[in-house]
Amino acid sequence: MKRAVILGAGFGGLELATTLSETLGDEIDVALIDENDAFVFGYSKLDVMFGRTTLDAVRLPYGDIAKPGVRFLQETITAIDPQARRVTTDAGVHEADVLIVALGADYDLDATPGLAEAGNEFYSVPGAERLAELLPDFTQGRAIVGVCGTPFKCPPAPSEAALLLHDYLSAQGVREACEISFVIPFGTPVPPSPDTSEALVAAFAERGIEFVPGRRVASLDAGRNVAVLDDGHEMPFDLFLGVPKHRAPDVVIASGMTEDGYVPVSSTTLETRYPGVYAIGDVATVGVPKAGVFAEGAARVVAASLVATLRGGEPPGAYGGRGSCYVEFGGGRVGRVDVDFLSGPKPTGIFREPSATLVAEKEHFGSSRRARWFGR
Ligand SMILES: Cc1cc2nc3c(=O)[nH]c(=O)nc-3n(C[C@H](O)[C@H](O)[C@H](O)COP(=O)(O)OP(=O)(O)OC[C@H]3O[C@@H](n4cnc5c(N)ncnc54)[C@H](O)[C@@H]3O)c2cc1C
Repeated sequence: MKRAVILGAGFGGLELATTLSETLGDEIDVALIDENDAFVFGYSKLDVMFGRTTLDAVRLPYGDIAKPGVRFLQETITAIDPQARRVTTDAGVHEADVLIVALGADYDLDATPGLAEAGNEFYSVPGAERLAELLPDFTQGRAIVGVCGTPFKCPPAPSEAALLLHDYLSAQGVREACEISFVIPFGTPVPPSPDTSEALVAAFAERGIEFVPGRRVASLDAGRNVAVLDDGHEMPFDLFLGVPKHRAPDVVIASGMTEDGYVPVSSTTLETRYPGVYAIGDVATVGVPKAGVFAEGAARVVAASLVATLRGGEPPGAYGGRGSCYVEFGGGRVGRVDVDFLSGPKPTGIFREPSATLVAEKEHFGSSRRARWFGR
């Protein structure tokens, strides 16, 4: 029996384990390893931060996974040997016939001096929870939603955070006493989709949100509560909501698999330069944004190629680099951008206007994955 070892039970790892189980059942032994005891959707962090839900309500415990052929192991991965396809964890050693690295991207708070002392980030669960505690006390002054480096997960998320912050402060009755500024290194909020960007920029203008494109937050001066941008421009703040600089997890960097920060893979098969070793999702460099839908798409290609190897048959078509992201515009309105990164000469993004159908579709996006991955 083949042994597949999947490192990381996020979007990519969960989709891969589920597809392998659905297709191969007990014909393959899948070890799915993650150090956490539960999965949380990225977008749930915004809901937690703005008090729209509790962490308990959005945690999906890995203990619920019951799939033929799949064993979930809560272990911390401490070393990866891609040549030998051997993984060391705090609980032992795992040998693999096929190794799939789906460890996502970590946050590097130290890369932005002052961020840990004077600012807050909302990209991790603890960060979102901390902001949920701080926000009720923010009743006047300037809030900055600021991006500290590229690439970062879910490019529309900081725009959503700025719009939802407007809603939050309005509901608290303090919006008039507060300013919101939004700093992003891109020239537009969602570069592959001019229409989505235009709609977002219009939404910022309607709500009096100051939009500062083309600039990155380089540091925070904790003594003066000032954000320093990469062109030296200074912006005072009373509350800083940051997207920290991302990087591959240390254990992946130490394995020697990375180049320019992330793991290079074939853009068609997702295989790394090590035979039988694949990388999917945020940890890989494949020319697509860091988002769950792309991690899932990559997982499906790897699953299909493993099935073809085991059972014979045609290998799957190349990874397409297509995905749809929902975009919260505030006021309960949800739009969508359908992006295609790999099939044409340049990335494209088609904007779907906010509608009630898309609100329901986003809800289904979450509930269908809860059901498929966790049987909930
Ligand atoms: C605020 C926010 C909103 C978002 N909204 C969306 C959205 O609407 N749509 C969308 O598609 N994407 C969204 N995303 C992005 C999405 O969450 C990520 O791109 C996606 O989770 C990437 O999947 P992955 O499988 O590559 O990695 P992850 O889902 O990050 O999974 C990696 C896993 O590896 C584990 N891990 C890491 N290191 C170790 C170790 N040493 N030992 C053991 N386990 C380890 C982690 O615990 C984690 O569970 C959002 C992200 C954020 C932050």
